[in-house]
This record gives sequence, structure tokens and C-alpha cells, in this order.
Amino acid sequence: MAERVRFENVVDGVRLGSADGRWIESANPFTGKPWAEVPHCGLDDVDRAVDAAHKAFVKGPWPSMTASARGKLLRRLGDLIERDAARLAEIEVKDNGKLLAEMAGQVRYMAEWFHYFGGLADKIEGGVIPTDKPDMFTYTKREPLGVVVCITPWNSPLLLLTWKLAPALAAGNTIVIKPSEFTSCSTLAFMDLIAEAGFPQGVVNTLTGFGSEIGTALVEHPKVAKVAFTGGDATGASVYAAAARGIKHVTLELGGKSPNIVFADAAIDDAVKGAISGIFAASGQTCIAGSRLLVQRAVYDEVCEKVASFAATARLGDPMDSGTQVGPITTQPQRRKVLDYMEVARGEGARCLLGGGTPDRPDLKDGWFVEPTIFADVSNDMRIAREEVFGPILSIIPFEDDEEAVEIANDTIYGLASGVWTSNIRRAFTMADRIRAGTVWVNTYRAVSYLAPFGGYKKSGIGRESGQHAIDEYLQTKCVWINLAEGVPNPFVLR
Ligand code: NDP
Repeated sequence: MAERVRFENVVDGVRLGSADGRWIESANPFTGKPWAEVPHCGLDDVDRAVDAAHKAFVKGPWPSMTASARGKLLRRLGDLIERDAARLAEIEVKDNGKLLAEMAGQVRYMAEWFHYFGGLADKIEGGVIPTDKPDMFTYTKREPLGVVVCITPWNSPLLLLTWKLAPALAAGNTIVIKPSEFTSCSTLAFMDLIAEAGFPQGVVNTLTGFGSEIGTALVEHPKVAKVAFTGGDATGASVYAAAARGIKHVTLELGGKSPNIVFADAAIDDAVKGAISGIFAASGQTCIAGSRLLVQRAVYDEVCEKVASFAATARLGDPMDSGTQVGPITTQPQRRKVLDYMEVARGEGARCLLGGGTPDRPDLKDGWFVEPTIFADVSNDMRIAREEVFGPILSIIPFEDDEEAVEIANDTIYGLASGVWTSNIRRAFTMADRIRAGTVWVNTYRAVSYLAPFGGYKKSGIGRESGQHAIDEYLQTKCVWINLAEGVPNPFVLR
């Protein structure tokens, strides 16, 4: 048996396994073989991690640290991420099978969130209220919430953690991270940088294990103040319900069925590339996947043909190789789910233009691959157009005019992202107004930034990550009243 790398949790600054000594295997989606182990935590471990975070929130150096000092720690963490990006990206690829080229860029870019929110840490200001009570001085303070649980999925573990961790720490909270059990290794490796940056013990803690075993106990824990979650909408709903029982704050970043809309007046070759990158990058395993390609009838046949021919050239292979364009699916259950949806689409009468199964190549036989797949003549009431697949399946849907494009685009339970391809400036602005989604891209797709708020309308979530708004998700407002008058007037009457 090949030797496995063992990654331990960090609780209160100490590396450890689970309380009862169990481990979970982490498999490489390209080889299909386990390559690492992470602690299989249970309910005792939940208490240990939350207690450590809670202690660090109320005692020790963290609560008395100035905001400027906190900001410095975050910026130092950003520098360390830049230094170690290549190492972290390799771990991420072994766990989730995404392309090394993409993950290396993504991890390097993550540093910007820590630099940006480090800069914001000491710009969190309260205000003075010009109160109507003459002898009162009334002011507000923006204060952290307490222990924040960050629950992250398997598709981009470190980036999606960063979107939570950077603003939560800048605001002065303490943290318990629960990564997906499929892809915990990079998070545990990243904890070395938290220590090296100089964060006090207990400020950031990790808890690996199965969401089904420890998730509810973690969310419901009385010492947890907020849950920041990214994942599927069914799990998101159960996290929301558990958080509601304890009246906790939540941010939810859930699924999507994003429309990528091509008008006849678009630069068609650019739109084709936008369609490809919207669905086949990361093998379609992104919440922002442009999984519904809406194409105006006048260019429908041309776009179908061009998208299919372009996608047919995609090179599947080892995600570590720089020449690979499409890697495996991250988990075996997810691969099964994607393959099942191909059958669903066929059963519904969609026309398969490309792919539709697993690649028949001996060098890929151990990996969890599926073919880049395109279905045309999809109607928006088919399951393949309504449900999030989270894989490389594109559904192409025709439309006549702007009105119909808006109607189809908005006819979904989701509202995370959208794309519009047009050369008409008036149409671009009008579509941006009318599409009910947290992000609208015009003549581009998949752009994100630490500066730009990201989040969903409708069932795609609650709250915003990145940008200045994100820090508000981790703060609460206190109002302080100082009586400057002598004596207390009639105690039985509200002033
Ligand atoms: P989940 O939504 O179940 O997983 C996301 C995270 O939640 C993981 O860390 C998971 O842990 C954890 N979790 C699971 N159950 C609970 C619970 N009861 N309480 C608290 N945390 C919990 O994603 P899946 O892996 O099941 O994927 C299902 C579908 O979700 C995908 O097919 C895709 O459609 C969608 N998805 C969307 C993502 C997005 O970015 N919006 C990301 C990932 C998936 P554990 O892994 O240990 O179960």
C-alpha cells in the first residue's frame, strides 16, 4: 500500500487527531486511490473546537488586540499565501482534481483577500447619533459576533474558505472551519500559515469529519454565533433550519442554474468561448457554472455547431499536466450524479451534441472522468434545465427575443450568476437590470474579485461575500447611551 500523508486538525494551536483516533481516507480523483488521511471527528471533537474558539474570543490576546494589529496579521498571512501558493495548490489538486494551472492562480489570488480585508480591519467605524435627548451622548460601535463556523465544500476549498475567513477575522471573530470530508487536506496544511503569521492560539480551529455526523451539532452549538456556509441548497436549507433554532446569523452561498445568454448581435466567437469557460472550466463544478446557454434563434444553429466543435477539442487528462484542459470529477458520488443526469436529459428528449458518457481512454480509466457534454433543443421545463448538476453538462435553449430571454433566464429557483453576450449597449444595461441574479457578466463570464460583492438571489443564498459589504456579515451594532445630566428623573417614565 502506498504511504499516506497524514494531516491533523489544529485546535487551540495544537495539532491533533480525533478524540477517538479515527481517520478518513482522502482519495485523488485522477488515480482513484487514497493518498492522505484526515481526522474523523465526532461530537466530542465539536465541543473541543468550539470551546477553543470561544475561549480565544473572550480571553487572551485576541479580544484586546487593536484592529490595526489584526489587520497586520491578515496582511502577513496574505504574504505567506503568496510564498506557499504552489505547495497549497498541489495539495488541492490531489484532493479535488481541478487543474493545477487554475488552482495555482486561484491560491495566489487568495492572498489579495487577506491584504484587502487586512486593510479594512481598522476602518470599521461606528457613529455618533445626533439624539433628540438633550443630555445624552449616543454612539454606535461595530462589534464582532463571536465564534463563526465556516463550512466549505469540495470544489474550491481554500478560496471559498478565504471568502469567509478574511472578513470574519478582520471583524474580530474567532473561527471553527469544517471543510468537506472529501477535500480537507489543503485547509489543514493552510493552518501552518495561520500559526506562522502569528494569530493567537484558538483564533482559528479546524474540525474535519462528515457533515452528516457533526454538522448539526456544530451549527446548533450554543457557543456558535454565526454560520457561513457554501454548498448545495438542500444542505444549505438544513444548516439554515439548525441555525434558526439557535437564532444564529447565517451567510449561505448555494447553488445555481445560471443563464448565459447569447444575442444574435454578439461577437459570436467570443460568446462561444464564454460558453465553454462557463461550463467546462473546473469540469462544471462551480456554483457559477453557466449551465443554461440561451441562444437567440437567428444564430442558434451556428452557436450550437461552434460550441460543440470547440468543446470537442478539450484535452482531458492529468490535472497536474499543464496541457490538460478538463480534469476529473472531484468525488465518486458526484460523478455518478453527473452521469445520471445524462440519462435524465436523454429521457426528456434533449439532443446530445457531444459527449454523454465516460471517456474511453485507458490512461483515464482510474480517474473519475466524464465527457464534456452538450445537449441542444433543451426546453426550460426539463429537469436538465432546472436542477443543478454541478458537472460538465451544457444545456442549450433557444429563444426568440429579449422578452423571452428574460423570461427563461428568470424562470429558475436560483439567482446566483448570469452572462449576457451582445454588442448593443442599451440591451446590455437593460438585461443587467432585468435578470434576477447576484452577478451579471456582460461579454465575459466567471470574473470574480476580492473587491466585488458576490452572492445569490432567491435560493442561491443569503448575504454577500467579498467587497466592503462582506465585513458587515460578521459584525453587529451596539448603541451606547451616556447620560451627561446629573440625577435620574422620574424612574417610572421612559425617557
Ligand atoms: P454539501 O452541500 O452537502 O456539502 C457542503 C459542506 O456542508 C461540506 O463541508 C459538508 O460536509 C457539509 N455538510 C453536509 N451536511 C451537513 C450538515 N447537516 N450540517 C452542516 N454541514 C453539513 O455538498 P455535497 O458534497 O453533498 O454536494 C451536493 C450538491 O451540492 C452538488 O452536487 C452540487 O450540486 C452542490 N454543491 C454546490 C456547491 C456550491 O459551491 N454552491 C459546492 C458543493 C456542492 P461533508 O462533505 O463532510 O458532508
